[in-house]
Amino acid sequence: MADTIFSKIIAGEIPCHRVYEDDKVLAFLDINPLSRGHTLVIPKELAVIIDQLSDEFAAAVGRVLPRLSRAVLRATGATALNVLQNNGVDAHQAVMHVHFHIIPRYADGAGLGIGWPARQLGADEGKQLAATIAGYVAET
Ligand code: AMP
Repeated sequence: MADTIFSKIIAGEIPCHRVYEDDKVLAFLDINPLSRGHTLVIPKELAVIIDQLSDEFAAAVGRVLPRLSRAVLRATGATALNVLQNNGVDAHQAVMHVHFHIIPRYADGAGLGIGWPARQLGADEGKQLAATIAGYVAET
């Protein structure tokens, strides 16, 4: 995996506004926030997208996400937040190092704009698809 801006931040070669760090996780303010308090949480493991992340580092990120979310809410007075995680260019990923966005939402609507083009899941499609995914989950 190639070096990214985030691996340089982990290495201390590029500055950041750090809000949390432990041996497996770093969290810092997004340099171009969607709203006040927009925070990035990254594993210190070199993984491009979520399916490459080890259980160990995934657990380390998951363990601190609630605490960081509480801290961001308290610090900003935001009314809600989105946790967003983009994987791949088609999913709007720009920095090729796994990261989680904590994006506060405010009563004035500031924060993440979401398109949600929902459709109906057919019963047959649901049954087959769930079985296929469950099979792969069991394999991995
Ligand atoms: P994504 O589209 O999910 O890959 O988001 C990458 C995020 O990283 C964007 O919100 C950027 O504003 C943010 N970003 C890029 N470079 C830096 C940096 N040096 N410090 C903090 N945030 C950054």
